[in-house]
Amino acid sequence: MIQNNKPSYLYLHVPFCRTICSYCDFAHCVYQENLADQWLDALQKEIDFREINPHLRTIYLGGGTPTALSLQQMERLLKMLDPYSSEIEEYTAEINPETLDDAKAALLAEHGINRASIGFQASQPSLLKLMGRHHDLPMMHQTVHRLHSCGIRNISLDLMYSLPGQTMADLAQSIQDALSLQPVHLSLYSLTIEPHTLFAKKNLHHLSDDVEADMYESIEKTLPQYGFHQYEISNFALGDHESIHNKAYWNYRDFYGISLGASGKEGWHRYDHTRSLPAYLKDPLMRMDIPLSTHEAMFEMIMMGLRLKRGVSRKLFADTFHKEIMDVYGEKARKLIDEGLLEADPLYLKASERGYEILNTVLVDLM
Ligand code: SF4
Repeated sequence: MIQNNKPSYLYLHVPFCRTICSYCDFAHCVYQENLADQWLDALQKEIDFREINPHLRTIYLGGGTPTALSLQQMERLLKMLDPYSSEIEEYTAEINPETLDDAKAALLAEHGINRASIGFQASQPSLLKLMGRHHDLPMMHQTVHRLHSCGIRNISLDLMYSLPGQTMADLAQSIQDALSLQPVHLSLYSLTIEPHTLFAKKNLHHLSDDVEADMYESIEKTLPQYGFHQYEISNFALGDHESIHNKAYWNYRDFYGISLGASGKEGWHRYDHTRSLPAYLKDPLMRMDIPLSTHEAMFEMIMMGLRLKRGVSRKLFADTFHKEIMDVYGEKARKLIDEGLLEADPLYLKASERGYEILNTVLVDLM
């Protein structure tokens, strides 16, 4: 096993959304009360079976939209997780503004949720309409106010760029509007058009690589002016508000993946749950197990770790694999260092500023 103890991090996927966004490729289905009840029954079976570590550091309720559930269903879900959240440091729920009311916000806080990740995406009504989103800026302010009133002040906003028709000015305005909500964390993702999404069916495309690169550069320049530091390729935090849960992925920690559409990693195994709700309802314990060879695990640790600004910890690599990173990748790494794409110090191997911009190419060369 890479780590012998039980995982300290748990991701739980709530598959329901009230409406479906045009770009979304996550495992999701339109909310129906009876289906959500059946899903909760299946989830209870899975949780009872999994022998989850009661000393979790983080729980992340993602989706889908956890707040798409009814108040009673949310309460049932949170009660299922109560036995594992008593020592929790970071308890995140993904939220869409149109599905949160005062009672749901209070319920989240009551069960220990101390971080909210909100889908902001953009502020232009035309772009939101294109994406199939049903919120606007006043609704965002109301949502954040609701969460603040319940004591949930650790707020992260997701934004998207490279959207069809989006201009640099649109992006700049979206960032300013997002900042007006006083988030302490921002995630900015460029649009990827996945097959089977509405965007793909409509034959829509993201912007050109050059414009996308310009947008990324402007994000990297703008956010530090407001006190945010970049700690991962798509993630920026104020002060110490880096996401503990997401850093567990990038630091290649083990984590539970619970419910359909979730993946997990425990020791030398990665696993995927089905993406199909009927299949999960039939057998919530069924999952596809993918054993990892040492070589694959090394590759994954580097691939995830180089996403972090500080890079891959050489000590973590050595402790995990009982080999020095430079003994395994030395020749290729040194070539990339000579080309100015990687940098190595005694603690970390990391991408240089230039290497960070073409991280995928660096990874291909390294492997
Ligand atoms: S982006 Fe989020 S809210 Fe939209 S369909 Fe996908 S999971 Fe649901």
